[in-house]
Amino acid sequence: MKSNTVHISSLQRGEPLRLEAVSKHFGEVQALAEVSFVAEPGEVIAVCGPSGAGKSTLGRLISGLDVPDEGAIHLGSTLLSEQPAQKRRVAHMFESLALYPTLDVFANVASPLKAPSHRGLFSTAEISSRVEGMLKMMDIAHLAGRRPSELSGGQRQRVALCRTLVQSPSLFILDEPIGHLDAKLRHRLRGEITRRQRALDQATLWLTPDTLEGMAVADRVIMLIDGKVQQIGSSRQVYAAPANTSIARLLGDPAMNLVEVWLKQELDGLKVLCNGTRMQVSDAFLARLARLKASGQLRLTIGFPPLHTRLDDGAAPNRLQGEIYTVEPFGKYTLVTVEVNGVHVKAKMPAGFQGTVGSSVQIGVPVEHVLLFDHDSGALIQDAAAPMHNKNLSEPTTIHDEA
Ligand code: ADP
Ligand code: MG
Repeated sequence: MKSNTVHISSLQRGEPLRLEAVSKHFGEVQALAEVSFVAEPGEVIAVCGPSGAGKSTLGRLISGLDVPDEGAIHLGSTLLSEQPAQKRRVAHMFESLALYPTLDVFANVASPLKAPSHRGLFSTAEISSRVEGMLKMMDIAHLAGRRPSELSGGQRQRVALCRTLVQSPSLFILDEPIGHLDAKLRHRLRGEITRRQRALDQATLWLTPDTLEGMAVADRVIMLIDGKVQQIGSSRQVYAAPANTSIARLLGDPAMNLVEVWLKQELDGLKVLCNGTRMQVSDAFLARLARLKASGQLRLTIGFPPLHTRLDDGAAPNRLQGEIYTVEPFGKYTLVTVEVNGVHVKAKMPAGFQGTVGSSVQIGVPVEHVLLFDHDSGALIQDAAAPMHNKNLSEPTTIHDEA
């Protein structure tokens, strides 16, 4: 018993995971391009990116199911990428789940604790209590005696989660761990799982295409798009200052509005055009745009969140005219989509908003929340008037409700 305790605590000493310029090709496809980051012990890192971004490939390279073409993966002072998979002690929950069909739920969850990597670590009684604790946390204790074929997709996903989290590894990789669960369970479990993982001394990589989910669970978020790390930061840092429009498109529910504008010098002053439609702008916003025009920036993409976008009769100092395209009542708010020359702009309006599809409406552009992006490269323009310069990111500001 005593020797067990010593053994376990030595295993539970966490070490940082360090990737250095890791690349992987599949034929013509570059699945990962020079991926570098560090995950500290006890840290939960969300790797967010759309389907095909390279998330699962990243997980497979770290746990040793695949080999990088180039680059190195270290865990503390160990060069992980030169160790065989079974030596790496990575608890990896696969997107495909892969349960043992002939074993019941209890035996599936207990299986890694009986594998060579955990041999001698836990007594039979300890294995039982760990497994029972996990099943209870996931609300599936009553299913302990069932086979995988007798479970729903969401139940199977929770069994796979139990089987991963029950282990005592050097690192956790969770590949879309709660994607098949209903919203209520997803919200409860993402909190429970992160709370537990943060209390451990091992890093957790949480791979998900759902940026909101990733932001909710993570100490830091890695934005992975087309196999490249595009940004690493806390949820607040990424939300306040997405590095480019590809990231901005993945933030918020619904995502940030992105509208392309032209700055055009006319005889009576600088004009802002959106697909040929004139945008009304305040003096202050015009001054901000004029400074960019002076530095050669004629085409820009402006980004602003639906949460702060208002529709009105034309009183807003910064506004665009459009036509109501859809009205979706969500009960606590109404989501209105407005078309401006083929571009859709969304506004989260109060529940009682009345609007008719096809009618003309003014979109109030909340310039205090506007981010500006270079039209061609998509990169964020860090001008002095950008919202993130007005905020101290270490201090709490407005609480966004899935903004
Ligand atoms: P994600 O998990 O983010 O959806 P993946 O890592 O599964 O992305 O895939 C990244 C890219 O690599 C995709 O274009 C995918 O088609 C390709 N890919 C992944 N695994 C293989 C493989 N074994 N053979 C060929 N192409 C693959
Ligand atoms: Mg995947």
